[in-house]
Amino acid sequence: MARYRDAVCRLCRREGAKLFLKGDRCYKPSCPIEKRGTQPPGQHGNSLRRGKAVVGYGQQLREKQKVKRIYFVLEGQFRNYFERAARMKGITGENLLFLLERRLDNTVYRAGFSTSRRQARQLVNHGHMLVNGRKVDIPSYQIKIGDVITVKESARKNPHVEGAWQTAAGRGRPSWLAQEGTEMGARINALPTRDDIDRSINEQLIVELYSK
Ligand code: SF4
Repeated sequence: MARYRDAVCRLCRREGAKLFLKGDRCYKPSCPIEKRGTQPPGQHGNSLRRGKAVVGYGQQLREKQKVKRIYFVLEGQFRNYFERAARMKGITGENLLFLLERRLDNTVYRAGFSTSRRQARQLVNHGHMLVNGRKVDIPSYQIKIGDVITVKESARKNPHVEGAWQTAAGRGRPSWLAQEGTEMGARINALPTRDDIDRSINEQLIVELYSK
């Protein structure tokens, strides 16, 4: 997804669901899904669905695309996550979501340093984020319990970061993340559980798709 250059709202309309890719706008009435509903993008958007329910392979494919787009990862990376999840103990579909949720860019977003995962990816790529006081510029870095995520001194006054941090304080953070003291920082208290991840995702469909 890193190379996707088109308007990201099209991705939500394609998946027929809010994927929260655009920060604050996603929570406002100006969100295209709020304004126009879930009609697919393009001139022939409406005729694509014609009220037919997507089933079988189509349904599995759409679910995989949806999750890939939520976490902004490319097909190859997503496949690697799946293979890793399949080798882990436990339920493959849940393992897949845990691996995605533990990415540093996702954690930066969940902690409230940014209003979207895309913005979080930029903060990490540009070297603004620290893990345990050391710069980590790898968005796929897997966080672990006890890690402390902070933002570099030079980026703390960035209006986007400040704004996102205040908004997150108002909305609340997931239970596995705690604010570190009074600083702009977050500590990983626990690893995310399935209840911390979007309940509308049906990960079993992705397992079925890749198991064919
Ligand atoms: Fe999706 Fe956000 Fe655009 Fe709404 S504003 S369509 S939720 S990216």
